[in-house]
Amino acid sequence: MKLSKMHVKTLREVPAEAEISSHILLLRAHMIRKLVSGVYGFMPFGSRVLRKIEAIIREEMDAKGAQEILMSAVQPAELWQESGRWQAYGPELWRIKDRNQRDFCLGPTHEEIFTDIARNEINSHRQLPQNLYQIQTKYRDEKRPRFGLIRSREFIMKDAYSFDKDWEGLDQSYRDMYDAYARIFTRCGLEFRAVEADSGAIGGSNSHEFCALSEVGESQIAYCDHCDMAATTERAACVDEQAPAEAELALEEVLTPDTKSIEDLCAFLHIEQKKTIKALLFEIADSEKYKYVAAFIRGDRELNMIKLINALDIPEYAIEFADEAAMGEKTGAVGGFTGPMGLHDCCIVVDSELLAAKNMVAGACKTDHHVKNVNYGRDYKGDIVAELKVIKEGDPCPQCGAPVKMTRGIEVGQVFKLGTKYSEPMGAVYKDESMEEKPIVMGCYGIGVTRTMAAIVEQHHDENGIIWPVSVAPYHVIVTLVNSTDPVQSALAEELHDRLEAAGLEVILDDRDERAGVKFKDADLIGIPVRITVGKKAGDRIVEYKLRADKASVDKEAEQAIADAVEFISARRRG
Ligand code: ATP
Ligand code: MG
Repeated sequence: MKLSKMHVKTLREVPAEAEISSHILLLRAHMIRKLVSGVYGFMPFGSRVLRKIEAIIREEMDAKGAQEILMSAVQPAELWQESGRWQAYGPELWRIKDRNQRDFCLGPTHEEIFTDIARNEINSHRQLPQNLYQIQTKYRDEKRPRFGLIRSREFIMKDAYSFDKDWEGLDQSYRDMYDAYARIFTRCGLEFRAVEADSGAIGGSNSHEFCALSEVGESQIAYCDHCDMAATTERAACVDEQAPAEAELALEEVLTPDTKSIEDLCAFLHIEQKKTIKALLFEIADSEKYKYVAAFIRGDRELNMIKLINALDIPEYAIEFADEAAMGEKTGAVGGFTGPMGLHDCCIVVDSELLAAKNMVAGACKTDHHVKNVNYGRDYKGDIVAELKVIKEGDPCPQCGAPVKMTRGIEVGQVFKLGTKYSEPMGAVYKDESMEEKPIVMGCYGIGVTRTMAAIVEQHHDENGIIWPVSVAPYHVIVTLVNSTDPVQSALAEELHDRLEAAGLEVILDDRDERAGVKFKDADLIGIPVRITVGKKAGDRIVEYKLRADKASVDKEAEQAIADAVEFISARRRG
């Protein structure tokens, strides 16, 4: 392929809206093109990378016996009403109406559709197990689309759904997908970790996220060097600190003027944060039970929103910080001075660590006042008691007690054991050997294909541009012709291009009428693994050979350059 004929327009400047390397470089290299916020198109180079990632995914899915199908992005509301998610998915669900005002959505994921396939087309145990997958465009009207392909509103996902007779079958299907994912991300050149995760809006019992390690990742990962514990901080269990045994002292109200924060309170009373109870106040949308929630944790801890949402059994979008004045009127809460005593008409959620904590200082639900010697059981009770803490670096590992470490990652895939979460409400059943009807046991497995492309760039770039791993590179070799008006140079460059192509490599020839400096900059930006430059020494059949990942180039005889490029690429093209 000749670059002069390709539809490519690289950018020198950093696009204003791009903050992170993958977003900047994918735009600058003209791999992607923004249409509106969170919606991108794929240009020739980008589209080739995408097809390569998809090919790796297909190979590994097919190797596990999964079958590819392709469903529509348009989904009827009725199926979502049946599963209960028309309501529960919230504003991220991109809803549309047809000309007759019938409701539809653009699928953010396809559990309902695949469960519908199963209930209509699977009836016997003889048809199980099965795994169906697709590579298809998804829509999520994200609150904050950002980071280019990492959090977009339209993106490509590989989603797979497994159907089994029982939980043992699901365990095997889940392991197969876990293995396939590990192979896929390894072949894509990613350094990643599979970590235990919360199952979020998809639901189910057991889940792992595959995270590409990266400082810009939105998943925070807690892991242990001494055992195999690795989990998102949303999910990681936090060990309750054993409070020293103390006799319960009498309650004592104290004047604590202007001590709205835990820091101010501790400075004023000369106590440790550990001896205080912190209140966090929330409002829940469309809740039949409680409009307001007061959550209590030890003053030195951070509240884990996902654990709170799970404890309340509400969708993530439905909770917000409360308007303190409005909540105060209804419940007796007093901003900055709220404690678990004196509240009414709200749900009190208490972190499990507080149960054994003795003689704590809490807000008095009275301006400028706190109460000393507050004890769980004697002085207050929770409507819900749950472990609500965010794990921190150095906290004891929930499995072995060693100090926990932290890192960050980009979630590129997630696997879920759904069990019968969808098959029961939607009536996806099969007849077992004794003709008894049983719900199909399901799993689901997603890979963000476009997000994976961005994650690869995050891990493989330098200050000059992208450094594609060979397995997903848009082309293997770029032959840079220094002077396209020189017939000797042109002839050798064309010969190299043709011979490398004949050897089965994917090659572009930069034959543009540009200065050599511009061509080198573009080659670095686009990130083709091997560059062969044909310049002044073409008469002697000497070319310059350079790997994108290396700083230095070496002069080689043309034959040698061809042989080396073929060898280098062949060894790496499968990833
Ligand atoms: P996140 O927590 O990042 O919002 P999620 O857990 O909601 O993602 P899943 O429902 O697990 O996402 O979807 C499967 C995969 O699809 C994710 O692992 C991720 O790689 C990808 N994905 C999800 N949302 C987006 C998005 N807005 N843009 C690009 N890729 C996405
Ligand atoms: Mg996920």
